Amino acid sequence: MLIISPIPAFKDNYIWMLHTPTSKDVLVVDPGDAAPVEAVLAADGLNLAGILITHHHYDHTGGIGELTRNRAIAVYGPDNPAIPGITHPVKDGDTVDINDIGFTIIATPGHTLDHIAYYTEFGDNPAIFCGDTLFVGGCGRLFEGTAQQMHASLSRLAALPGNTRIYCAHEYTQANLQFALAVEPDNRALQQQVQAVTRLRTNNQPTVPSILSQELATNPFLRSDQPAVIKAAGDRGGDVNASPVQVLEIIRAWKDHF
Ligand code: ZN
Ligand code: FE
Repeated sequence: MLIISPIPAFKDNYIWMLHTPTSKDVLVVDPGDAAPVEAVLAADGLNLAGILITHHHYDHTGGIGELTRNRAIAVYGPDNPAIPGITHPVKDGDTVDINDIGFTIIATPGHTLDHIAYYTEFGDNPAIFCGDTLFVGGCGRLFEGTAQQMHASLSRLAALPGNTRIYCAHEYTQANLQFALAVEPDNRALQQQVQAVTRLRTNNQPTVPSILSQELATNPFLRSDQPAVIKAAGDRGGDVNASPVQVLEIIRAWKDHF
């Protein structure tokens, strides 16, 4: 099994650090800030061996320059010239072996157009590093893409094995679940998740990763084909016969002002 741990950054970002059990060479995902990464490397005696980037936003890329200044390491990321320092551009369907860890790249446009996710089944423990696409209880804002694109991206993630762990890039869970409860007040699995998450946050513990099967039961943005979610969208002025894409668009716009 991979060793995966969060490095908190800024107000609510997680920079994920991962390595195989036998190696002190680590990868980091979306290092928006170099300082907290350097602090963990020094404290734990680890070597930075590579960087994975999901999309061009600065809170995910801002540390690339400093982290690569004195290291000749690979930086994987979208084929987007706006991101400085990418050495290995990757695209949908690529399979790459990084530091003995195999990843499949899944394009997940919506939050941004260049967004990608990194999926691995290392040790039969599937995990996905999905940046700002799928959050615990929510999804990324539509800054560049359409609801149609986000729906297609989320549908691809939803089709992964149910035990896939979801490593997203922000601790947004409590706010997301408050919104999810407004959409589906009668969802029992959601009510239970709220309690579990409240306990974790009270103890200052991360709520990430989540498990895909959990998200399928509670995350309204993965449930835009469910009667209760369609009804909630209808109550917001939507069509009761709205398609899953239209439902997603309505609840995403609702969440933007929640
Ligand atoms: Zn972002
Ligand atoms: Fe972000």
